[in-house]
Amino acid sequence: MTVLLELQLPRTLDMWVGELLADAKGAEPALSIEGWLYEGTTARRAAEQRLAAAGIHARFMSAYKPLVHHFLEHVDCNDLARVVVHYPVHPDAPPRRFALEAYPLVDMVAGAELRLEPQVVAAVMPQYRVELQSHSGAHRVDIVRAPNRVHVDSLGETLLSPTAWLSVKHRDGSITEGRRESDYEALFRRAIECVQGHAWPDTEPYFERLDIRVDLPGIHYSPPHETGFIDTQEALHEDLYFSLMEIFQRRSGRPEGDRRMQPGQIVPDVRYSSGTIRLRVAVESYPAIAAVAETAADAAASPIGADIDCDVPLAKSVAPLAPVRIAAELSRIAGRRFEATTRQGRTVAGVYRAGAGPAVIVSGAQHANETSGVVGALRAAQSLAQRPDAHFALIPLENPDGYALHRELCAHAPRHMHHAARYTALGDDLEYRDAPPWYEREARQTALALSGANLHVNLHGYPAHEWTRPLSGYIPRGFGAWTIPKGFFLIVRHHAGWAKRARQLAEHVCKQLAARPALVEFNKKQLASYNAHAGDLPFEVIHGTACTISEVNRQGPALTLITEFPDETIYGDPFILAHDTQTATVLAAVEALGLISPSQ
Ligand SMILES: [Zn+2]
Repeated sequence: MTVLLELQLPRTLDMWVGELLADAKGAEPALSIEGWLYEGTTARRAAEQRLAAAGIHARFMSAYKPLVHHFLEHVDCNDLARVVVHYPVHPDAPPRRFALEAYPLVDMVAGAELRLEPQVVAAVMPQYRVELQSHSGAHRVDIVRAPNRVHVDSLGETLLSPTAWLSVKHRDGSITEGRRESDYEALFRRAIECVQGHAWPDTEPYFERLDIRVDLPGIHYSPPHETGFIDTQEALHEDLYFSLMEIFQRRSGRPEGDRRMQPGQIVPDVRYSSGTIRLRVAVESYPAIAAVAETAADAAASPIGADIDCDVPLAKSVAPLAPVRIAAELSRIAGRRFEATTRQGRTVAGVYRAGAGPAVIVSGAQHANETSGVVGALRAAQSLAQRPDAHFALIPLENPDGYALHRELCAHAPRHMHHAARYTALGDDLEYRDAPPWYEREARQTALALSGANLHVNLHGYPAHEWTRPLSGYIPRGFGAWTIPKGFFLIVRHHAGWAKRARQLAEHVCKQLAARPALVEFNKKQLASYNAHAGDLPFEVIHGTACTISEVNRQGPALTLITEFPDETIYGDPFILAHDTQTATVLAAVEALGLISPSQ
């Protein structure tokens, strides 16, 4: 391991308290204090009490999602009849930025009428104006400030991002206030500067593993419903991962959004600490592949029990499957085995089952932090294997290196979305790999060569709660449509000349899905939250399922059906609904293939 940077930082909250206590002993102590920073409720209340004991009136707010924290900490959501939130529209942010940041307010005040109204602001500091009306008729107006700064990021883009802020009111009525870079922001900046300034080799991959280990206190709010999950450690992982990807993308000379770059494996490992704030940036070799270690991690990777991969039937799986379980379930399907070897040396295993029916390729975990597709692919293939004419190639786990990293990260943070585990150990998206060595991509090519399939059902997922980049403009760059969940939906891609058959496929699959009440209810609920915060869905809705159909002339089968279930971070019954849906979609697609016209 080569350490590029290792440092400790003082905790911002402690520094502020120390400064204010010293100030209180001076000739002109402050009248009152307001501060915003990346700290949880308990730490902020404790700091307020310490200052109160010294006669200082202080209020500390969350710099991250201040409106949501205002409701959590200062509003009785059960007593609300009507809520109107006038959210700020700032010239340096997308118009709906602060409506998105208010997510999931619509779920928090469920039962009350909620309106989100845009309000153009010229003020330096954006603020929300909140009108609250209780059942008893009481009316109140709260002003909720949202400290942000305009800054130019490492790509030269101007962004508006949340920041820590300290406001001191003096005895003569004057106010001194401004941005104060917090520990959270400083760690991020130092990590980015370190990687950006390092002398990397001229050719990819630049490293095997770039490990960014962070320990710091933070906000972790885990409500009963998944959509309300709020976690600053998770957000820091996401911002570090995508910011570093963008830096290497630029370095490689490839255009923004190109998924072929191969810098190596970037691993932000962001953990809670009760006080110490530490950053270590290091370049390492890939960790050794140890089947035993992966099995041992399984228990830790599931927050709801250790028996997930023993006797539970596949259809009842409540958490992502262990690799040993995936191999065992795959071995139950008779057919011709094929495999490929990953960059790290793991095996991508597949099976080809010849039959009289039209051929289909079924795959899961191209993006390895999207885990319900693995269960769905196996369940659907086991069901198809019972039919005499079934004809399919199955690759349940396309990206085992990413999957191993996902399990490693889940062992200490099972509810984080972990996008660092999305791509391969080379850092690219295997679907877009267009030059040898092929590694895991070879399995898909073999599946196509063996089956000659015209349809690939490619099972995916996306975040089940809000995905943010708080230090880089808040809304994930390039993924603006994915920031909050919007139910299960489909992406159909087809070659030229296949438009009519693509439409028939989508129609049939959506019609079958409409007969699943639990899914219909789930989609309705998530779409309502999505519409309240993000506006209209940019997709067509077919029989109640959102679907987008487009012509894409890339190599591979003429038709591709991509599923998107908001499965990142879910366990238990929600996970079962996810793989039930994935399974049903594969089976409906196979049925559709037998029905659609052989030509235009
Ligand atoms: Zn995906």
